[in-house]
Amino acid sequence: MATIHHQEKQQFERLFEGEGIDRIEDRLAILGVFFRIEQHMTFQEFMTALEDNGYSFEPNFVKKTLNLLCRYGFAVKTEFEGQPPRYEHRHLGFHHDHLICTKCGNILEFESHRMEDLQVEIATIHGFHVLQHKMEIYGLCSDCLKQRVRLMSLALAQEGERGIVEEFMGGSGAQLRLATIGLRQGDEVEVITNSGKGQLVVAVNATRLALGRGIAKKIMVKPNGRRKDLE
Ligand SMILES: [Zn+2]
Ligand SMILES: [Zn+2]
Ligand SMILES: [Zn+2]
Repeated sequence: MATIHHQEKQQFERLFEGEGIDRIEDRLAILGVFFRIEQHMTFQEFMTALEDNGYSFEPNFVKKTLNLLCRYGFAVKTEFEGQPPRYEHRHLGFHHDHLICTKCGNILEFESHRMEDLQVEIATIHGFHVLQHKMEIYGLCSDCLKQRVRLMSLALAQEGERGIVEEFMGGSGAQLRLATIGLRQGDEVEVITNSGKGQLVVAVNATRLALGRGIAKKIMVKPNGRRKDLE
């Protein structure tokens, strides 16, 4: 990759000199840091990276340089859902797509010729000519998934078992419903009765709550042991 980077730097220099763009040396320094990182960076993250490398350019100058990098095909700016725009190095002739973790924001890259071919095939069936495409898959990364396994649905907790409410599945609607029931993230719940079907009764802060099984399934708790007298 080092030689490619070197070639790209030369291209960049030639292009920019030809276009009469100023402060080439400074822009080359920015390009150097950008190439070294090879990640999907927000503008702020990139500013920090520049500082870490001993540079202190004005944000506006950096922003304009990044825009130039995008314009000349050295970088791409992508906006993943729910995240600020990110810049990444564009390798000409290479294409990749992304897996985005909605929990920690981790971004993974993948390449699949089968997937690429299939997309063209589908487009062709519809008489559609593909110019470009973006494939973004949203979900949980393996680290976040591991964490979730440690969580348990409240509906599966045994009588006498205690847990800390960690997560509500099923989007903001579910959160709202839980709030109206009187449950919040971080609350400790203890299962009073759970017969495995129908309603279950839990205690939260010395209050008893009857929960429908449907909503109990969506409440993810971190197991927190059993009541002392039941051990
Ligand atoms: Zn693709
Ligand atoms: Zn994650
Ligand atoms: Zn990427």
